[in-house]
Parts: sequence; structure tokens; C-alpha cells
Amino acid sequence: MRGRWGAVAADRLVDTEISLMDEWEMVKTFTGHRIARVTTRTRFNLRWTEMRLYRLAPGDEDSYVLGIVGRSRVYHAGDDEGGCNQGVEVRPSDLDPDVEMVPCQKCHPVDVSADGADGADDAVGAASTTWIKMEIPAYSLHICRDPQALMTALETDHTGRLLDQPSWPARQLMQGARRLDPDLNRFLSGVERL
Ligand SMILES: [Zn+2]
Repeated sequence: MRGRWGAVAADRLVDTEISLMDEWEMVKTFTGHRIARVTTRTRFNLRWTEMRLYRLAPGDEDSYVLGIVGRSRVYHAGDDEGGCNQGVEVRPSDLDPDVEMVPCQKCHPVDVSADGADGADDAVGAASTTWIKMEIPAYSLHICRDPQALMTALETDHTGRLLDQPSWPARQLMQGARRLDPDLNRFLSGVERL
């Protein structure tokens, strides 16, 4: 059966050059194709997680690349204004105008949105000279030799501690990926006697 999803899946399975960022925002490139992606983003949440899983091209000694990004739309007051000491210092004008950034509810930074300054010139002036602290994306990259290594990466938090159970996006990622990756499906279909 050649359904709509089948056609999409076939397109995705073509290996291409892929670039992802690591913990230092350094770009890593490899050849492969995406087999799953999951985001916890909704219309309402201020912070969310994105996970992307790639299958490396045949011939590579590793099999999977897992990219995780923690994203945020929150910005804080600068350190001199009694902010939460979270994020990196930027000028309000450095914020990406395409992303609707949200002021922190605890430290109440200067409102940098176009309509937040009530159109008053002095408020706009203050916003352009004040430092704010913007929460930036937190990238991580895991190169996994086999399905077991991938599972371990998904069961480990960013400090290296083993989680009691994998997060729900991690589970969704694996369940999506097994449908496009026979090796992963075989691994997850293994029957283990308890
Ligand atoms: Zn804050």
C-alpha cells in the first residue's frame, strides 16, 4: 500500500549532509537521514525540548546521532536590575524579532515587545539601553554506536545521571524511529525473559 505517509517516509530515507550543534554550539556535520523528531512545544509553554534522531549512512562505524535542544522564550532583567541571573546578556535590540520573547514573571525585566512599551518614547528608549538576559538554546549531541547506546543516551540526563525512567518525548522518539529503522525495531522487538 502506498499511502501518504509511505511517500513521506521514503523521501526522508535519502541520506543527505546534516548539520547539528553540540554543547558549545559548534556545528557538527554527518551524512544520514532523520528517522524521528519530537517536540514538547505547545502554543502555551515557555520552555520546551526538541529531539531529533538520525540514522548514519551505511559504512559509518556509528549508527545514530541524537540531537537534543532545550529552548526557551523567557528573558530576565539584567544583573544590575535584580534579575534571576539566568541566561546571557544582550541588548533588547539583539532579540530575534521573529520570536515572541516573554518577560520573566519573577524579576519583571523591561518590556521589550513592540506593544509592551505602550508606545511611549521614553520606555522604548529605556529598553534600548538596558541589558537583559535571554535564555539561550541548550544543545546536546550524542553519537551512538548501536541501539543500546542510543537507549542509554536517552536514559541519561545532562549531568550523566541515569534516569529512573526515560522521558515521554524520549519514548515517543524511539517509537517513531522504530517504524523507519529496521535495526532499531529488531532491537526493541527482542523478547527478554524477566
Ligand atoms: Zn527572571
